[in-house]
Parts: sequence; structure tokens; C-alpha cells
Amino acid sequence: MSLIPSLQKTAQWLQPSYIVAGPITAIDPQTLWGKGIRGLVLDVDQTLAPRRQLVLPETVRHWIEQVRPRFKLYLLSNNLNRRRILWVARQLDLPYCLAARKPSRHSLRQVLKTINLPPAQVAMVGDRLFTDVLAGNRMGMMSLLVEPIASDGRPSRQNRLYRMELRLLRALGRFTISGDLPTPTQGRDRKS
Ligand SMILES: [Mg+2]
Repeated sequence: MSLIPSLQKTAQWLQPSYIVAGPITAIDPQTLWGKGIRGLVLDVDQTLAPRRQLVLPETVRHWIEQVRPRFKLYLLSNNLNRRRILWVARQLDLPYCLAARKPSRHSLRQVLKTINLPPAQVAMVGDRLFTDVLAGNRMGMMSLLVEPIASDGRPSRQNRLYRMELRLLRALGRFTISGDLPTPTQGRDRKS
């Protein structure tokens, strides 16, 4: 196998369906609903709560209450710390799965089975390309890349990894221009 096709494949799988301009709370539930999405699988660390913080930003609680009535929700974290994930899940009263090993599809498959929705109707939401986006894309789900969140609900300034991954995405974008690959994500959802 030559190098270019394998890079193209990687580029395709790392391409989020949408790059959200802001943290998870910038996602407009109505827009997702209009696109046929009925379930959301949510990453926890830096997506719902800043790393090493247990208290969720008020904006996150509010956003969850907004989406809860219409969407099936499930937390999916690679974190091994049961106490932390359980604490977050209890605060939001949501089902959870920890030690998910994203980008492995194993846990995602279980979650989809539990919420009883096909991949096309579920979006994976997270702040990392190589875990959240890759896992969602490999499952054939919509993938939303969000900015890491700070304790005040705004985008975190501790986001070097996120910035690096965005730069990588731009570099890989070169490989998505030709061939039968999907159009690279250009539009940024700016709804809030
Ligand atoms: Mg995360």
C-alpha cells in the first residue's frame, strides 16, 4: 500500500463533520435536530468539565437541560477514574461509560445499542481529533469537534493540544481536496 492513499484515509477519518466555534454550549440543538440527529454521545474531560475539576460550568448544565427533552444522551469517556466520571454523570443525571478506549468502536457500539439509534442519527461530541472525532467517524456518525471548556464556561486557554490538532487538520486538508473524499469541513457552526 502506498503512503498517499493511507494518508488520505487518515485525513478522511480525522475530518470532523463540524468544527464548532466554541465549547459544547455553542452547539445549537435545533440545527442538529434539523439534520436528523436524535442522540448525542458526549465526551467528558474538557468537553463538559475542565480537566481535574468536578464542578460543571453553569452553562453546561443549562445546555444539557436544553437538549435533554429531545435527544438521547450518553457520556463516553476514556478516563479510568470512575469516581470522577460518576460524579459528572450524577450531576447531569446521565448514563455513562468510562475507560471507553476511543477511537476504538467497541464502547460506541454498546452505547448505540443501548440508546437504540443508528449511527447516522447520532453525533459524537468531543474536544479531541484522535479519540472523539476518529471514533465517531469510524462508526459512521456525525462528529463535532468542540473547543476545550474552562470553568467559567468559556473556551479554555489551556488548549495547546487542541490548537496543534487544528493545525494538523489543516495540513491533512491538502489530502482531502481531490479524489472521492468528502468535502473538508469549511463551515463552522457559529450558532450559540
Ligand atoms: Mg476530552
